[in-house]
Amino acid sequence: MFRQLQDAVSRDVRDLLEGALDGRELSAAEAERLLGVHGADFHALLAAADLARREDCGDDVSYVVCRNINFTNVCYVGCSFCGFARHKDDAAEAFDRSHAEILEKCRDAIERGASEVCIQGGIHPNKTHEHYRDILRAIKAVYPDLHIHAYSPEEIDFGHRKSGWKLEEYLQYLVDAGLGTMPGTAAEILDDEIRNVLSPNKLKTARWVEIIKAAHGIGLRSTSTLMYGHIEEPRHIAAHLDLIREIQKETGGFTEFVPLGFIHERNLLFNLLGSRPGPSMEEDLRIIAVARLFLRPHITNIQVSWVKMGHKLGQMALCAGANDFGGTLMEESISRESGSDHGENTPPEEFRRLIREIGRVPVERTTLYQVVQRFEDPALDPPSREPKADVDLSGPARWRKQLERGGRSPVELTGPAASAAPRGGATTEAATGIAAAGA
Ligand code: SF4
Repeated sequence: MFRQLQDAVSRDVRDLLEGALDGRELSAAEAERLLGVHGADFHALLAAADLARREDCGDDVSYVVCRNINFTNVCYVGCSFCGFARHKDDAAEAFDRSHAEILEKCRDAIERGASEVCIQGGIHPNKTHEHYRDILRAIKAVYPDLHIHAYSPEEIDFGHRKSGWKLEEYLQYLVDAGLGTMPGTAAEILDDEIRNVLSPNKLKTARWVEIIKAAHGIGLRSTSTLMYGHIEEPRHIAAHLDLIREIQKETGGFTEFVPLGFIHERNLLFNLLGSRPGPSMEEDLRIIAVARLFLRPHITNIQVSWVKMGHKLGQMALCAGANDFGGTLMEESISRESGSDHGENTPPEEFRRLIREIGRVPVERTTLYQVVQRFEDPALDPPSREPKADVDLSGPARWRKQLERGGRSPVELTGPAASAAPRGGATTEAATGIAAAGA
């Protein structure tokens, strides 16, 4: 019977998967073939990518405790897929955070265990190149150990043009002020034909590559990303992956690859320009799997975006080639404002539970993938550092009293979920879920 399953896989797909597992580099045309598989070929692709992930990274699943800070939503670039940007004169909804507000968010992040803040914003027409430097300086003056992951190539492009300096000089100026790493966002699809529809005013492919290579050249590492599920075809994704791999061979500066599914609900790209309504489940998983097989051994960290996929599909992606669950985020506006409803915050204890549910080992990491702590034994997990949540105490009185006293429920103490439950008597989301299930 099992033989029948294997026999159902197409001969050419089997050869490609065997080759990738044996360490042969897939071509862009071969990646394109794998990006279109269904049925038995699809399942074989996921299984092969999962095997490759185990060879490349073992059974650890990493995450970083971080906070997103969007310092302004004012932007004049006008990307058709964006639901976040506002006009600077939009008195009701535009914001431009002061240093004091940014520092307060950093303080809160550190209190909740963050090692990183991720800082990005819109392209505010009134700002200068110094604005980016000043934010870094302000944070480092108070929190010198906090890692600052900041400024997409679009923001770097804007600041650099305002400065009038050489690109490397501007990047070094930011590094000297405290910039630790860069998000490789604003990549979308690195194909100008597609970019001209998505965002005609945004930096072109060659400029994105120029900025990323210049950053890597001065030792400033970055992530790499892809936005899919809109108007692109598999050939565009394959070419994008090929370009990312070529850059990595040259510079070694990418820390990870992060596929980002398009969120379609609240933007022009879907509602006016007629794009697809985001990726299907198959597309989400195929891209993770193909990225694992195509980018190895040059990029071995393949990250799941839980904001785009949600937790459960994220767990599936971790069984299809991914090894990293991304960041806690704490606050997230860019996807939410385009219509994502997967939340803004995944606390570390929630990551640990989700990772253990699929039989893997949670590992907290730094931005640069150094291990902060491996959590092999759930009994040794630290207490939650999240602010006390407002919990819904509806249900039988005996459960409510237990929670109100801050104690652990009988189910939590005796049931199979005991090992995954948060410790310290906190009335967190997870504890509430257990109580609700028992009630
Ligand atoms: S995606 Fe970024 S650059 Fe584009 S409109 Fe939105 S905030 Fe501006």
